[in-house]
Amino acid sequence: MTKICQNIAMDLEAKTAILADSAKYDASCASSGVSVQRPGTTGACQRSGVCHSWTADGRCVSLLKILLTNRCVYDCAFCVNRRSNDRPRASLDVGEVVDLTMEFYRRNCIEGLFLSTGIERSPDDTMERLCAVAEQLRERRGFRGYIHLKAIPGADAALVRRAGRHADRMSVNIELPSGESLRKLSPQKTRAGILGPMGALGEGIAEYHAERRHGSRVPPFVPAGQSTQMVVGASPETDYQILRLSESLYRHYALKRVYYSAYVPVNDDNRLPALREPPLLREHRLYQADWLLRNYGFGYAELLSPEAPSLDLRLDPKCSWALRHPERFPVDVNTAPYEVLLRVPGIGVRSARTIRAARRFGRLRLEDLRRLGVVLKRAQFFLTVDGYCPAGGTITPERLRQCLIAGRGVVPAWWQPELRIV
Ligand code: SF4
Repeated sequence: MTKICQNIAMDLEAKTAILADSAKYDASCASSGVSVQRPGTTGACQRSGVCHSWTADGRCVSLLKILLTNRCVYDCAFCVNRRSNDRPRASLDVGEVVDLTMEFYRRNCIEGLFLSTGIERSPDDTMERLCAVAEQLRERRGFRGYIHLKAIPGADAALVRRAGRHADRMSVNIELPSGESLRKLSPQKTRAGILGPMGALGEGIAEYHAERRHGSRVPPFVPAGQSTQMVVGASPETDYQILRLSESLYRHYALKRVYYSAYVPVNDDNRLPALREPPLLREHRLYQADWLLRNYGFGYAELLSPEAPSLDLRLDPKCSWALRHPERFPVDVNTAPYEVLLRVPGIGVRSARTIRAARRFGRLRLEDLRRLGVVLKRAQFFLTVDGYCPAGGTITPERLRQCLIAGRGVVPAWWQPELRIV
């Protein structure tokens, strides 16, 4: 039987199951894989078939997460869908993806589509099909839900920009943290082929926002921005190199998010490290460090260095930084500038803002801080309130590190009994 005949013979449900399952390793949407399963009822959704993302206005939406095809002419070492793997293959045609999306949308199972794909013939052919899905949904079917599309490495910039006129978000995966690892593990892809579509999207997004700032009523272009995904742990790059790359991508391509995907050992391949399980804690620490880059004004070189290139797995990156900089603490909550408050462990963006706002109405007391969202079991070691340091200021650096790792506090019993060291 030819490939076309096989495709026709396979019913839509079977193809959808294969393609939703094949999409589950793509982390470049905000979350993935719901466990809700109500077989045979309206509103049923497949495991690993629905993920969540945030729209340009900050709403969380559930998306049908699926591949157009898991056939791929490329052979990336870390990928379950690579050409050399013997696994069930399926492809959907453009009309099938459109119908499926509309069907789920009408049943209120999803609020949008996250469409990724293998490269069945060529980058341009694949990009063309992704464009066609988005165009049909928007122009023929009047679909106003959220659309996240992949931009295909090596695809023509004009095609990428055509897709951008219909998608809310687009992502082109950077895949690996260095060109050398890309050559070794993903030999058909090039750094230039990845950065080309990323650059085309970045330019389109910048033009769109510039025209909006000048008051023009322009059609949207990727209004929720672009993102990318990097596999962590499949190659030898350090956290320092990874964060340096992320900061550069945020700066030069106006990315909204870099997603870190802990390498899941799915293939036997001597180019890959022998990991027993994915480095999930490392992935988590990278997300925390990334959050500091995007929202707290940190630079990658403040968090790590070539001499100390790995994030501390036992402690979050902000606490680690604070421990290395005792000269910056304690800070007085009643006088410290906003940017300084942001660097205090246990004070987030929201609590720093509320502290700044509350100070206009009077001096803050210790007991006000928790109400303002400060996590005192961490912040107490780094703050003073009118010259008074809740943690007493006598703790040794090593004891402090142990308290932070254990999540324990040493505040006086009269004030927060539940925070005492036990
Ligand atoms: S191009 Fe994408 S789908 Fe194909 S093998 Fe590489 S990572 Fe997998």
